Amino acid sequence: LVSRKRQERNTVVTLGEVAIGGGKPVMIAGPCSVESYEQVREVAAHLKASGITVMRGGAFKPRTSPYDFQGLGVEGLRILKEVADEFGLKTISEIVDPAHVELACEYIDVIQIGARNMQNFELLKAAGDVRKPILLKRGLAATIDELLHAAEYIVSRGNTQVMLIERGIRTYEKATRNTLDISAVPILKRESHLPVLVDVTHSTGRKDILAPCAKAALAAGADGVMVEVHPNPAIALSDAAQQLDFSEFTDFYDDVLRSGLMK
Ligand code: PEP
Ligand code: MN
Repeated sequence: LVSRKRQERNTVVTLGEVAIGGGKPVMIAGPCSVESYEQVREVAAHLKASGITVMRGGAFKPRTSPYDFQGLGVEGLRILKEVADEFGLKTISEIVDPAHVELACEYIDVIQIGARNMQNFELLKAAGDVRKPILLKRGLAATIDELLHAAEYIVSRGNTQVMLIERGIRTYEKATRNTLDISAVPILKRESHLPVLVDVTHSTGRKDILAPCAKAALAAGADGVMVEVHPNPAIALSDAAQQLDFSEFTDFYDDVLRSGLMK
């Protein structure tokens, strides 16, 4: 069902006035984690002023260490909704438990399935049973074919609003956190009709190369880019090293806009 052979026309995921996959690339930005109402509100205000329409923020955080911040859970979803309603933003947040999928639909506009859960088949089935856009991340060591099969789990249960996102894969290269597989973009666009995005933050883990990587993604045909932004990255409760502060985000976004690839 997700194959281009089955459907020639691009799937367009609409979030109010935002159409993803319809030809105009989208910039999705926001903190790694929802940490507090004030933190999310600060980010939202800056994003809104920058012309951003879709905000991300993790409430359920799949952390490598059990001793690291695990996210605010449902309270985090509540904060996202309250702030997004105030600023007129659309929201994306990760859900890790199939039992939370329906509940999440009340609070957020897009349910993210993270890299670590790309092949959590019960979660994929639960995501397929709701009528809410899903942002499906490529697994840490997943092939393109496995990503497409994971998407098939969702679409085959009737939820056709699925977006794919390349977020870097594990290789021997240590210069970046993961290796951004830019070739996945044109391959996914060719093989599938679903929107394809690129998460430049988690793929590179390096603030200094976000703009060129975002431009490469867009030049390769990506329907959008995702980036992490935090009011004060140094004290962030997760991914402190890789989140942009507001002025860095403004420089990054200006750079991408100047390329003319975002229009
Ligand atoms: C995230 O986007 O918050 C995240 C945890 O990313 P990934 O699942 O790609 O590691
Ligand atoms: Mn993160």
